[in-house]
This record gives sequence, C-alpha cells and structure tokens, in this order.
Amino acid sequence: MAVLIIQCPDCQHCYQSLVMDSTTVPTLWYCSHCGGQRAAPIEQLTANHPLEQVHGSGCLCCGTIPSK
Ligand SMILES: [Zn+2]
Repeated sequence: MAVLIIQCPDCQHCYQSLVMDSTTVPTLWYCSHCGGQRAAPIEQLTANHPLEQVHGSGCLCCGTIPSK
C-alpha cells in the first residue's frame, strides 16, 4: 500500500490518498478543496500502517511525516 501526498497548485491544499496494491494510481487528481484538476502527487510514501503514521504526525501539508 502506498500513500500519496497530493497538492493542488491552485489553492495549495494538501491531502493524502491511499493507493491499494491492487488498484492503479490515478493519472488525474481532483482537489478536494477547490475542485481543481491540476492537483498532483508531490510525494509517495510506502507504509504498511499508514493510519498509524498519520496519527500524531502533525501537519501533512508540510510533509512532516516521521519515518519509522
Ligand atoms: Zn485546490
């Protein structure tokens, strides 16, 4: 399972998307904040337990996700 950090260039909104191993990574991302279609992955994390990493990891927009 991979965790993609998606950032929208229009409004700088960041969000993360989980990509299951059995699914294809989308080529077009929609910003969940402004609805724009120019959002793109800026970082890909490989995580066995992404939700555990998210917990207590601080601001995802800053990419401050601790690697364990
Ligand atoms: Zn946006």
